[in-house]
Amino acid sequence: MRLRLNLSPKQMSKMHRAEATGPGAGILLAVILASGLFGLAAPVGGGAEEKSGAAPARELVERRLASMGTFLDVAVVAANRETGLAASERVVAEARRVEDLLTTWRDSPLSRLNAAAPGEEVAVGPELAALLAEMLRWSARTDEAFDPTVAPLMRAWDLRGAGRVPDRSELAAAVAATGPGRFRVSPELGTAARLHPAAGIDEGAWGKGYALDRIAERLAEAGVGDALIDLGGQTLALGRDPSGASGASGASGKAWRIGIAHPRERQRPVAMLSVSNLSASTSANSERGRTAGGRPIGHELDPHTGEPAFDFGSATVLAPSALVADVLSTAFFVLGPEKGLALSESLRREGVAQEVLFLIDRGARSHAQDSRRLEALASPGFAQHVVSADPEIASVLTPAVTSPPQPDPPRH
Ligand code: ADP
Ligand code: MG
Repeated sequence: MRLRLNLSPKQMSKMHRAEATGPGAGILLAVILASGLFGLAAPVGGGAEEKSGAAPARELVERRLASMGTFLDVAVVAANRETGLAASERVVAEARRVEDLLTTWRDSPLSRLNAAAPGEEVAVGPELAALLAEMLRWSARTDEAFDPTVAPLMRAWDLRGAGRVPDRSELAAAVAATGPGRFRVSPELGTAARLHPAAGIDEGAWGKGYALDRIAERLAEAGVGDALIDLGGQTLALGRDPSGASGASGASGKAWRIGIAHPRERQRPVAMLSVSNLSASTSANSERGRTAGGRPIGHELDPHTGEPAFDFGSATVLAPSALVADVLSTAFFVLGPEKGLALSESLRREGVAQEVLFLIDRGARSHAQDSRRLEALASPGFAQHVVSADPEIASVLTPAVTSPPQPDPPRH
């Protein structure tokens, strides 16, 4: 079984600083960690559709490298080592291409937009213009809980540095420079303009998700159907894990397994999920928050107030689109469990496939070591992905409990 902890390593800022100051930006290491031969012949307990005879052996190629200010872990399953390596090369190249487009830690089309004079139309290209337009739309869809224009707020709290508490007037100025209305995007022209001298786009809550979706396309082109990609803690699980036992369908392997960490202890898995053709994104503050003026400062900001969002624990989103998972995990964290579940439900009715798990740390305020302070709240379909869970949250994550028959949605 392959295991991924879905809470981000939160090494983005450290890595970014290293990248910004040191030489060799981009790929720092590209090591083939392991490459094993899988004999998938005659799986035990296969179903009726199982073909007789040996299934072709397949090769798992795994790599880890630095990308987008964090780590990119690639595991692709291919007919042989050569095609596996070639496919993983495509993944690496695509991650680099997307980073070159979206980074705001060095020069890029997005950085040029963020530095442009107010009103100046910047030729960012059709891909970035379309993406920015989509991100601004997501801001509206999430009641601006997700807002790609939070760069002025990130600066005010120095969240890319050591962290600081801005004074009132500074915060007010940052809030005034934030908001989707501070940008004009023309996808048909491939241009964008910022409309306020302090406005800026921050890619932190959607860049990795976008990269994962593009990586999925490259893998499909390379003929790879089974892969597990982890970019800074966000996972994309395609197809099946060949090392797992065959399912009842007789297909080789089984769904990939990923672990969801405790919101305060990143190394402690509290739930194990089974995922296939899904991306999992978690938003939380562990290891990413700063402390300034004696108070913890989370890196998930509420664009309405300009303040760090209330830190209840974590929000994990499963969605076929990695971009949607990335965007929504941030939005749901900012909204909190109650409003987040309501938004998840209404988006589902609109046809946006996603499920969400909120882990709520009730011990946060008292700093109690009481491990039974963790609570879970999940959207109705989340439980079907849960293989096992910590006893304190297991009851919520049992399908029978979380998925009562749903009444028909009201007609409008
Ligand atoms: P991670 O980067 O750990 O995967 P997220 O996907 O939740 O976490 O993204 C958090 C990052 O997004 C922050 O570090 C910041 O760069 C940016 N950000 C913070 N608050 C918001 C927000 N309300 N909307 C959009 N982006 C945000
Ligand atoms: Mg996100």
